[in-house]
Amino acid sequence: MGTFDILVIPQRCEQCRNIVENRYQFKYGTPWQKEFSLGDDVNWEGNPIRWNGRPIPGLIVADAEIEPYPDCKFEYESSVIYIDNGKFIGAGRNSGRFQFGQDDYALPIESYRPLQFEEATQGVSE
Ligand SMILES: [Zn+2]
Repeated sequence: MGTFDILVIPQRCEQCRNIVENRYQFKYGTPWQKEFSLGDDVNWEGNPIRWNGRPIPGLIVADAEIEPYPDCKFEYESSVIYIDNGKFIGAGRNSGRFQFGQDDYALPIESYRPLQFEEATQGVSE
């Protein structure tokens, strides 16, 4: 995938049901191997790719690849992250919901309603 950034979100693994730190690799803004959490702003410093250096306004979905969780090795076929007005708001599997063109890393979308497993588990006790 070349240079990418990583969105790290604690989520429940669909396979082993453990809460794992899912790591979503994506290209949006200026990818530079940085790690982000929910609520962080997209990095636009330096030399961002495409969009003339500006975020797509509003709600978008960006193509992503999830790093397999090292214990159970569960791996999503393809994943996406969600960004609202330049802030990371979620991530999950794509499951054919979004079609990206060959050179598209992100698309504007109308609405975002997280699937159950996509909801971040930060602060939720077991
Ligand atoms: Zn697992």
